[in-house]
Amino acid sequence: MTQILHKAKIIIANKDTIIYNGALLTEGSQILQVGKIEDFGTTFEENISDHGNSLITPGLINLHTHLLYSKFNLIKSEEGLFKWLENLTNASFNMEQNEIEESLLFGINQALSYGTTFVVDNTPSLLSAKLLSKSPLKAVIGLEIFGSDESQAEKIFTKALETLNELEEKYNPQLSFTFSPHAPYDVSLPLWKLLDTWSRKTKKPLLTHLEEAKDEKKWWQEKSGSAIAFWQRINKLEPKMKFWKKHDSGIDFLFKNNLLNNNLIAAHLTNATQNELKLIKEANIKCIHCPRSNFNLNNGTANLKLWKENNLLFGIGTDSAASSENLNLIEEMRFAIEEQKLYGLTISNKEAFELITSNAARVLSMEDVIGTLKKNAFADFLIFDLNGIPECTYKDPLDIIIWKLNIVKDLKEVWINGKKTVRVDSMLNKI
Ligand SMILES: [Zn+2]
Repeated sequence: MTQILHKAKIIIANKDTIIYNGALLTEGSQILQVGKIEDFGTTFEENISDHGNSLITPGLINLHTHLLYSKFNLIKSEEGLFKWLENLTNASFNMEQNEIEESLLFGINQALSYGTTFVVDNTPSLLSAKLLSKSPLKAVIGLEIFGSDESQAEKIFTKALETLNELEEKYNPQLSFTFSPHAPYDVSLPLWKLLDTWSRKTKKPLLTHLEEAKDEKKWWQEKSGSAIAFWQRINKLEPKMKFWKKHDSGIDFLFKNNLLNNNLIAAHLTNATQNELKLIKEANIKCIHCPRSNFNLNNGTANLKLWKENNLLFGIGTDSAASSENLNLIEEMRFAIEEQKLYGLTISNKEAFELITSNAARVLSMEDVIGTLKKNAFADFLIFDLNGIPECTYKDPLDIIIWKLNIVKDLKEVWINGKKTVRVDSMLNKI
């Protein structure tokens, strides 16, 4: 297998390991060694790739998106999640296959162009797997599950499992698949139980949206609020009124039914109370913060101070471009840092960097292979041009990554599985 020695001015192997005048030795899809240039001797003269005044970091990990909506314009909603969902449903209704493919492709290329090498995509569409399989972008695909009618639970689960098995057979090992029960208010109790049993048996995570909007609690507690009008419009209200028992919240529903388990990866939690976050911690649920989406949909923001006090394991997701504008994780991160300052929380550069690399990898239980540059990890990394950055700031490379670099201008190369991918600049902005 071909070995390549990548030399660079600075290598951020992980948040604590920064190497100046370093090199990264890859063999095939993996990393063999990371260290100072002199550690490598003279054996590799033939396959040296000298990146000069550059900075190398691990590829970024986006823990929550819906690539299907990548080409949509940002849909803002002052009236919260359910009004937004109604607008999204209107916008995506009647999409032709070619439009879906175009939007997916746009999202895939945009994510890559912003330095993302791994995404968690939540989707009802099989086309996501088809297009991701042709791209270097790595992914876990969560097949979205909806099902309000309890009597249909078995049928929905059996069909979904068939689909998942087919996809796994077709795209294994390149892509991995799991289920994404949309939210506790959209998946009936017997259906969620089937998914939970499957998840424990297969040791695969269930991806879900949890306590995202203020009006969710209104639904759970009073069966009122803005969700009602939306579900009525899409003909989903009747089974929900019939089958759903009252609870304090989605977390309460899962907890009381013994479904709040460590197999869950939950996005948002913007409206989780202090007690609910304790339950999340006790169940060891991994979490995802999507600040721009929460802001644009007027859903509030996650109380990261409490997340941190509870020692929750979490990373960052952009959510779809229809709620966050684009799939730029650095922009998402900057937004999170600035927003949390308003609530008196300082997120250090180290913490910020972890949220889009190593912590995100831990959320996926993939910390040995992605989000870090070390022996036997995948050779997924980014090369930034440092020429526009004053040398006196080189002492703090994490600050350079998070605040100083312009990812559009300065990200020179994206490498995945030891291979250079083609960056498509035209994908950086919607037209
Ligand atoms: Zn989402």
